[in-house]
Amino acid sequence: MSMRSSFDIAVFEGDGIGPEIMRPTLALLDRVARRHQLSLRFNEVPAGAALYASTGEALPAASMEAARKADAVLLGAMGLPDVRYDDGTEISPQIDLRKELHLFAGVRPVTLSEDQRSPISIEPGRRVDFVLIRESTEGLFWSLGRGEVTADEARETLVITRETSQKLFRFAFDLAARRKSEGRGTGRVTCVDKANVFRAFAFFRGIFDEEATKRPDLAANHAYVDAMALHMIQKPWDLDVLVTENMFGDILSDLGAGLMGGLGVAPSADIGDQHAVFQPCHGSAPDIAGQGAANPHAMILSAAMMLEWLGHQHQVTTAISAGDELRRAVERTLSEQRGLTRDLGGDCSTEEAGRAVAELLEGVTA
Ligand code: ATP
Repeated sequence: MSMRSSFDIAVFEGDGIGPEIMRPTLALLDRVARRHQLSLRFNEVPAGAALYASTGEALPAASMEAARKADAVLLGAMGLPDVRYDDGTEISPQIDLRKELHLFAGVRPVTLSEDQRSPISIEPGRRVDFVLIRESTEGLFWSLGRGEVTADEARETLVITRETSQKLFRFAFDLAARRKSEGRGTGRVTCVDKANVFRAFAFFRGIFDEEATKRPDLAANHAYVDAMALHMIQKPWDLDVLVTENMFGDILSDLGAGLMGGLGVAPSADIGDQHAVFQPCHGSAPDIAGQGAANPHAMILSAAMMLEWLGHQHQVTTAISAGDELRRAVERTLSEQRGLTRDLGGDCSTEEAGRAVAELLEGVTA
C-alpha cells in the first residue's frame, strides 16, 4: 500500500455547539494519528449562521475553495434559529457543500450493543451494526426552493435520475462488500422504497435490480419504507446495508439515531466520488450551546469515519486502523458507561466525555 501519511482537513466548526464538540474531536484525532504515524493538518474555515449575521455571507467563496482543495471536510454544526435569509429560510451551508461537491451518498451507521442505553432491548449476545445510505442530492429534496404554492394547491416534485441512482447503488454494494470482508455484515443490500405505489420508486427499484445482477457475490432484496420503519425497531440486528431516497432517508436516519440512544451519538458522512464531509446527524443545539454540556460522541464517530474513508480512498491501511481504533474507543465508553453527558443520563461535561474516550484509546487494540 502507498506511503502517504499526511492529510489536509478543512474544519468547519460552525454554530452553536459546533466549536464545543470540535475541540475534543481534534485533540483525539491528533492523538490517534500520532499513534499510527499519520499527520493531519487542520485548516479552520469560517462559515455558518453566526458568520452570516456578522458579515452577510454564510459560505464565503474562499471557504468553499478550501473545502474543495482539502482531502476531507470535518463539520461541527451549522444554523441558528434566529438567523435567517431574507426569504425566511434557514442558513444551511452544509446543504450548499453537498450540492457543490456532489456528495450523493449520505452514510448513517447505526450501531448498538446490548449494554448501551436504547429505547429497545437487544437479545443477549446480539449487536446492531447496519448502515443507512440516504441519497442526498435529488429525490423529494430536489424540490427545495422550487415548490409551487397557490391559495388552493401546493406541489413539490420528486426527481430520481438513472445516473445518480446507479452511482448510489454501486456505492451501497461496494460498502456491503467491504463490510462483509471485515466481518461486520452478511453482504446484503436492501433497497428501501415505495415501489408498490409510485412509478418513480419502481424506476428506482429497477435500477437497483440491474446493479444487483452485476454483484453475484452479494445478496440484494427490497423493503417498503413503512415496513422498514417497523423492522428497524423490531429486528435491527438483521440489517446490513440499506439504501434509499433522500426524504425517506432523512426520516429513517433519525429513527436510527433514536435506536442508538439519541442524536448525541449518531455520526454521518456525505460522500461523493472525490470529496466527503463528515458531521454529526444533529444540528447546532442552540438550547444547550455555551454550557459545555454537549455530547461530542457523534462528532468523534464522524471523525473516525473520516479516517476510515481517507484510508480506503488513498489505500493507507494505517488510517483505516486509526479510524477503527477511535470508533471502538467511543463504543467502549458507551457500553462501559464512562464519561456520559446529560443526554445519555450522565453528568459529565463535553471535555470529560472526550477525556474518557482518550483514556480508552490507549487500551484499544486495532
Ligand atoms: P437541525 O434542523 O439543524 O438538524 P434540529 O432542530 O433537529 O437541528 P438539533 O440542533 O439537532 O435540532 O437539536 C435537537 C435536540 O437534540 C435539542 O434539544 C438538542 O439540545 C439535542 N442535541 C443535539 N445534539 C446534541 C448533542 N451533541 N449533545 C446533547 N444534546 C444534543
